[in-house]
Amino acid sequence: MTEDTLFSRIVSGDIPADIVYQDDLVTAFRDINPQAPTHVLIVPNHVIPTAAEITAEDEPALGRMLVVASRLAADEGLAENGYRLILNCGAHAGQEVWHLHLHLLGGRPLGRMLPG
Ligand code: 5GP
Repeated sequence: MTEDTLFSRIVSGDIPADIVYQDDLVTAFRDINPQAPTHVLIVPNHVIPTAAEITAEDEPALGRMLVVASRLAADEGLAENGYRLILNCGAHAGQEVWHLHLHLLGGRPLGRMLPG
């Protein structure tokens, strides 16, 4: 059995979060430390620790994450000026929570993708 994560406890409602969307496959909630006017995290409801552990069985949830990201971006008024989707994988990317998540960031110019 896969261990619980901070985000699976948000998915189950054990830990409170500002949930903006939830269905049978994915959950989206506002980041506790937003880096832009809109900063939403979209996670699969089941635990995939990092992108390195993705398998073909995860395809439905991963596809749904992108569909939901696009819909939420439109709902937040970001579609016209654009936004960024980020998926950090592992230590070099600075991943902090070992439950795969897509960051949806927007609402201001976001600068270059990488510093330097
Ligand atoms: P990572 O660095 O792993 O890609 O991103 C983890 C994100 O989770 C960070 O942006 C951080 O602010 C967010 N985060 C960490 N703990 C919590 C929490 O308890 N609730 C919410 N809503 N976001 C969290």
